[in-house]
Amino acid sequence: MRGALPRLMRWQMHRATTPEPMSGSPLPPGATIGILGGGQLGRMTALAAANLGYRCHIYCQSADEPAAQVAAQTTLAAFDDMSAVDAFAAAVDVATLEFENVPITTLERIADRTPVHPAPAVQAVAQNRLSEKSFANSLGIATAPFRAVTTAEELKQAVADIGTPSVLKTVRMGYDGKGQVSIKADTDLTAAWTESGAGPATEYGILEGFVDFTCEISVIVARGTHGAAAAFSPVENRHAHHILDETIAPADISPDMAAAANDIAIRLVEGLDVVGLLAIEMFVTAKGDVLVNEVAPRPHNSGHWTMDACRTGQFEQLVRAICGLPLGDPSRRCDAVMKNLIGADVDDWPNFLDDPKAKLHLYGKTETRPGRKMGHVNFLGKPTND
Ligand code: AMP
Repeated sequence: MRGALPRLMRWQMHRATTPEPMSGSPLPPGATIGILGGGQLGRMTALAAANLGYRCHIYCQSADEPAAQVAAQTTLAAFDDMSAVDAFAAAVDVATLEFENVPITTLERIADRTPVHPAPAVQAVAQNRLSEKSFANSLGIATAPFRAVTTAEELKQAVADIGTPSVLKTVRMGYDGKGQVSIKADTDLTAAWTESGAGPATEYGILEGFVDFTCEISVIVARGTHGAAAAFSPVENRHAHHILDETIAPADISPDMAAAANDIAIRLVEGLDVVGLLAIEMFVTAKGDVLVNEVAPRPHNSGHWTMDACRTGQFEQLVRAICGLPLGDPSRRCDAVMKNLIGADVDDWPNFLDDPKAKLHLYGKTETRPGRKMGHVNFLGKPTND
């Protein structure tokens, strides 16, 4: 596959450098970017924004959250506190989000006053597993087969349709494997329905056919206010205990598969009319199919490698996209492996500083808990000739 990567890269470069029709002027340095959510994705966005001369205003719940620690301004309030939301909207020049489950009503309220990128309508699709899979299918993009399920009775019918093994998930609010129950031929479906926790708060459940994948990949694609799109190389993601453990860049897949994954990413970012970033998680099967699992319209953990290994990292690219600046060159300078530091892994931080190929990123979290993302390390590999 390595031999064909330069061609892919040239294509990506073309996407990034195609002359863009003008639509509005860029936000000048000194302008304020509002970020909903105070986690590490907001922190790294704020740091990239600061490099380009922007200020960030973080909307979160506590002053010690990772993003709040590095921001010019914070609003500490609940996402449904509409007077705080209005004041935030009035104080920022553009808003984005780093946390997927900000209520759509909050995003729409901000969008009445100031641009929100990606738009609330994009978030509405991505927050709902049924909508995101249906949207992908409407563009002719394949997913696992799925059925909406609102009762234990419907689960029985859905299992009859889709077969086993299959996976029952909540439609909303699921992440890192939470709210997922695997369904086998002998599974007690009434108990499985109860175990999933699917109900009105999660807009019930979705049953998906189990995909016997050979690897999980993702593509992160940026699209600017002028409509140009630029994708990072497809990467392989390996999970441990349902949490991303390592990202390997680039994914060791055939050039055709890499091109197919990129094509899916471009079709989705354009189809959804995203301004900002879209991360697309996909399964690769032994037959060579590439199936979309889920999309996230925000920076993504599987894009952290780009910070040190690409000519433009995902966080800078997001800032460029939402501020109306030209997109940067997403091509790789070198191969990389990103390792998440989960829980006590972070205690090894001094060792990473001794390794010249390791770039350490810590999130400023004071309390280490099992399963908590505390930081990551990018291990830089061989330079690419792209
Ligand atoms: P998700 O919350 O949809 O990202 O799922 C979390 C993880 O569960 C994925 O990264 C996969 O490893 C696994 N998974 C989710 N859906 C399926 C599926 N339909 N078939 C096989 N594995 C799945």
